[in-house]
Amino acid sequence: MRRVELIVPLLFLFAVPLKAQEESDAPTRPLGSPPEVRVEPLPEVPAPAAPPSLEATSTPPTDAQAMARALEAGPPALLPEANPASAAFIGPPLVPPFELLGQKVAAGEHRVLEWKAGQGFAGGDTLVPVHVVHGSRPGPVLCLTAAIHGDEINGVEIVRRTVNRLDADRLSGTVIAVPIVNLFGFTRGSRYLPDRRDLNRYFPGSPQGSVAARLAYGFFQAIVLRCGALVDFHTGSFDRDNLPQVRADLRLPEVLRFVRGFGSLPVLHSAGARGMLRVAATQAGIPAATFEVGAPGVIQIDQVEVALAAIDALMHHLAMIPDRPLDDEPQAIFYESRWVRAHAGGVLVADVSLGQRVEAGQRLGLIVDPLRNREQPILAPVAGRVIGMARNQVMLPGFAAFHIGEASSAEEVSSAAASGRLEEDGEEETEEDGSERRDEDFDLDP
Ligand SMILES: [Zn+2]
Repeated sequence: MRRVELIVPLLFLFAVPLKAQEESDAPTRPLGSPPEVRVEPLPEVPAPAAPPSLEATSTPPTDAQAMARALEAGPPALLPEANPASAAFIGPPLVPPFELLGQKVAAGEHRVLEWKAGQGFAGGDTLVPVHVVHGSRPGPVLCLTAAIHGDEINGVEIVRRTVNRLDADRLSGTVIAVPIVNLFGFTRGSRYLPDRRDLNRYFPGSPQGSVAARLAYGFFQAIVLRCGALVDFHTGSFDRDNLPQVRADLRLPEVLRFVRGFGSLPVLHSAGARGMLRVAATQAGIPAATFEVGAPGVIQIDQVEVALAAIDALMHHLAMIPDRPLDDEPQAIFYESRWVRAHAGGVLVADVSLGQRVEAGQRLGLIVDPLRNREQPILAPVAGRVIGMARNQVMLPGFAAFHIGEASSAEEVSSAAASGRLEEDGEEETEEDGSERRDEDFDLDP
């Protein structure tokens, strides 16, 4: 090496070939002869490895895969056990921004975006707020929607409180929350759209159809297709009160796995009706459930609290939040349920309360005929639990008064699903919330 140190400054022009010779240990070239020009092939530099795909939280097909993985995985370790000073520590995972409605939400950020639901009567855009809480760690995309029926406001409060309680820095994955989907109905205190159509019979919608079909289409394309899983909040309809419960098509294994995450919240099998958001979402490969809470037109804080605990349990189950709610009660599963109707006109006076267990033949209430001072009992046709009931009110014969769920075990449901015994809902004329189907609820488009 000492020779090189002396020669290199003197033979500046030949420095490169000399160096090459040194390295190749070739015989030394005599001084004065022209330098031998050798074209060395460039050393092969290995191509940099492609960056790991972090798209799992931001494109529809992988959202579903991420959800499937999260369903299998346990809760995340959000507090890194590794010491940042140790060799094992690799730092927090990188999460790309979440893109929705043409906006980017950075990891660890909570933003309120706007979905253009269409134009109002005076023209101009009707803007519906859409919350995006994008966690600082990768995970599934969970969507929460409420007030598709504009008078069902328990869900509005549940979604609002859920979003406020989330800490994006401690969240794995993303929550998309829409407290009021049917802003048209909400501002009028109505279940329906201004054209009296039921928005929850028009999903996934059509861009050329009725008011309802267009609204459904826009919402489904812009928001629902970005969801890895979806919970749609509802209440009973027309002065009926529902025990907090989730309803889902338990024949689908991924849906059954999904609803098992709601802690002790009762689960009811229901195939659902054509056009419901959860049905359309499930058909698009997104596990979805309807979450029924209470009655329309009111906020029932006790029931809202029950729902919040169930959503916490679900998010823990999906490995989105680390804290496991204290909830040791086993989950009740009803794969059969039936509405018990009034057979006389009059005033309902109920004997039972929501959530109560009843025996077959037990009196559920009386229909009181105030004109002739007569009472007619309504009896439970089966043993089960009161999962929904009409509030005491006047009713005509045929009004759905009590909803009785027949409890089953998860194993029974799985085996029933496998053997095809879980069929479509039996009562064709009754919606899952007890409302009667009306012709105008169905798509009248040609
Ligand atoms: Zn509803």
